[in-house]
Amino acid sequence: MKSLLILLSVLFCFSSFVNAKTTDIRLIKNLDYSNSEIKALREEIKINLVKISKGDFVKPEFRKYYVKKNDTFFSIMAKTMMDHDTLSSVNALATLWDVEPGATWLIPNMRGIAVFGDPVELSKKYNVAEDEITPVPGKNSLYFIEGKSFDSSERGFLNGTVFLKPVRGIISSKFGLRQDPFSNKHQFHKGIDIVCPTGSDVTAAASGKVIFNGQMSGYGNLIIIEHQNGYRSLYGHLNSSLVQKNQIVTRGQKIALSGATGNVTGPHLHFEVRRKGQALNPRITFLLKDYLPLLGQKNHDAFAKDTIVFALLHSFYRLPFLA
Ligand SMILES: [Zn+2]
Repeated sequence: MKSLLILLSVLFCFSSFVNAKTTDIRLIKNLDYSNSEIKALREEIKINLVKISKGDFVKPEFRKYYVKKNDTFFSIMAKTMMDHDTLSSVNALATLWDVEPGATWLIPNMRGIAVFGDPVELSKKYNVAEDEITPVPGKNSLYFIEGKSFDSSERGFLNGTVFLKPVRGIISSKFGLRQDPFSNKHQFHKGIDIVCPTGSDVTAAASGKVIFNGQMSGYGNLIIIEHQNGYRSLYGHLNSSLVQKNQIVTRGQKIALSGATGNVTGPHLHFEVRRKGQALNPRITFLLKDYLPLLGQKNHDAFAKDTIVFALLHSFYRLPFLA
């Protein structure tokens, strides 16, 4: 009977531990420096930076924040004293542009990284004790490891500095909900369309391996390239391919000629980026020659505008990430 009670209480503790909900977590109402939660958070991060740098383990604590309309990744990062790797990985962002107003973000009181996986494997991979690997509340199989950071390759994917614009031309249709030109219904556009005359050079947006080279309904002639860190890029409506399946291609290498195959109303390249099967807003690095037609456009859409601003802002520090 006694052992049954022990077993039940262990099970109860275990289940409450696994189901740690974000509802029990302190809320940061706003990001004002005068907010007491922000003050406390910044103080804790400072203290923990010193402790962790000495090799001490400190149990991480998380606060939550509801993303507001005008927040950006960088504004939240600065106000909460986070760094890039901590804030993006704890919130499992696929890119730094996944900043949805109303979303619940978690802010730990220290820096480190959150990684999906199994605690035993993570403990080996990052060379830390298993009990120093902390589950991130409300996120299945996501674990926080303090004091660690990502390598430049993964960070480059998150920053959107890995993919080069794959063809010259203006973006005519952006990622997200749009009116379908065939059915007139609202549909989710999983990539971006770049208008270019049939026969334009299409280049690999990043280095990788060709894993598909053929026809796919809707996409017409399609090439899919697999990159590091679970990313894939797709190039649709091609006229002809210049590569073969399983071929290794380098960033900027000519892989195809653009066309108008599949479901199209005119010649363009449909470009898509996926991570672990999920379509992402393909943030691409523009080369200087790509800015010119965009700057000539009378009404840039918001995407083109912040792509230009972002690319200019990061033109200095993106260089180390070039594949
Ligand atoms: Zn498209």
